[in-house]
Amino acid sequence: MKLYILLGLLPACSIALDVFSVSLAAKEASHLYEIVSRHADLDYGCRAVVLRSENEHKLHAVVNSEQYGRLKRTLDPGTIRIDMLSNLPKRQTETAPIDKGDRFQGGKIAPRGLGVRKPTESFDLGGILNVQEVHSALKGLENEYKSFDTFTTPYKTYEGQSIYGAAVSMAEKCQKDKMHIYLTSGFHARERGGPDNLIYFISDLLYANEHRIGLTYRNVTYTNSQVKIALGTGIVFIPMLNPDGVRYDQANNNRWRKNRNPASAISGDPATVGIDLNRNFDFLWNFTKHFDPSVEPASTDPASAAFYGTGPFSEPETQNMKSVYDEYPNIRWYMDVHSAAGTRLYSWGDDINQSVDKAQNLFNPEYDGKRGIVEDSLYKEYIDEQDWHNVALQANMTANAMMAASTPRSKLWHKDKKANKVYGYTMEFGYPENFYPTAEEFVQNIIDTNAGFMEFCLTADEIGLTG
Ligand SMILES: [Zn+2]
Repeated sequence: MKLYILLGLLPACSIALDVFSVSLAAKEASHLYEIVSRHADLDYGCRAVVLRSENEHKLHAVVNSEQYGRLKRTLDPGTIRIDMLSNLPKRQTETAPIDKGDRFQGGKIAPRGLGVRKPTESFDLGGILNVQEVHSALKGLENEYKSFDTFTTPYKTYEGQSIYGAAVSMAEKCQKDKMHIYLTSGFHARERGGPDNLIYFISDLLYANEHRIGLTYRNVTYTNSQVKIALGTGIVFIPMLNPDGVRYDQANNNRWRKNRNPASAISGDPATVGIDLNRNFDFLWNFTKHFDPSVEPASTDPASAAFYGTGPFSEPETQNMKSVYDEYPNIRWYMDVHSAAGTRLYSWGDDINQSVDKAQNLFNPEYDGKRGIVEDSLYKEYIDEQDWHNVALQANMTANAMMAASTPRSKLWHKDKKANKVYGYTMEFGYPENFYPTAEEFVQNIIDTNAGFMEFCLTADEIGLTG
């Protein structure tokens, strides 16, 4: 497994009529990296990823007809093959619908997940949760289970919405210093099903604990005592970190990714609204200084879907995400849920790892301007050998469970690590570049990711929740 940080400048919402999901294949990975830097305007998803395999490497992207034509004209068919995977607007008619009402009736009804259903029961959950339903689901779980406490994060969004989270454990009263796992989703608005994955997983744990049963995710089963171990790790989660963006995406079906803050917007250009929350952290935020100039892990252009904002943590959404670390001081394991790179990566996230030279670390200004080129010897990020082993083991265990639950299309990588030593991961679920799942994929994604979350909790417990 390796780690790649070649990220494209992403176009914001595509208004073009024809938008295709394409796969670019080459024998030499360097040819694909070249595409990323030469065609920086293509939409490479959360980040551009070169999927490596023995015979052929692949890169996925979403392109409009103009971009597709340009690739066809300029790429040498002898070295790069372009496969069209789907026509997204056409496919969109088959995607899972967004629910129109509130199936949890403001919290009167608690959600019930898929891992506790008998094979004879229906696995139809209805549509994808809307913004209101995410809140109602949390209230429903709080009303139903004693060991579930919802909270409201401190900062409201630009549109005045609150962002809600919850803490869950085996104890009847939540003890903030006993929470060790932190799960989030919904930073990228268009990645449909992310919040649903988290809500139904937590619902499964609570229901299985209460009814003294285990969990089944297709071919993977967990016992009731494993359910208790998972709950006992103490899980804090925020299912929907970007409700403004989600509301906009759900209303317009335009694959919107950013939040809706117009602070840097140019009037008359709707694409310039919003900040890519996933580029708004203080982790090497000032990328033009820290990275090699040929690498663009974010964008300074408000029209880009990877626009990094006006400063590190400039947005209420990212501040809310961070505030949980202050409220729950002993979080050790963090996972952010995204779709759909279709690959597995782990580590620091800014360059290849190494355990030899401590000087090559992200805080050393001597290496500014040199980070991010994968196939070079100038810079590789230092990581303690034991930590490296731990993050790799966790990533493997989680991804293996997800693959066993279904087909190998949900993967995981370690992203960054905080000063108080939080092992951070990003999970990518779903098919490459397929942000809107079909009804069938929506259910399958919940099963896959829930097996992955379960393994994540159990492995965290095994490696250690403290220290
Ligand atoms: Zn994402």
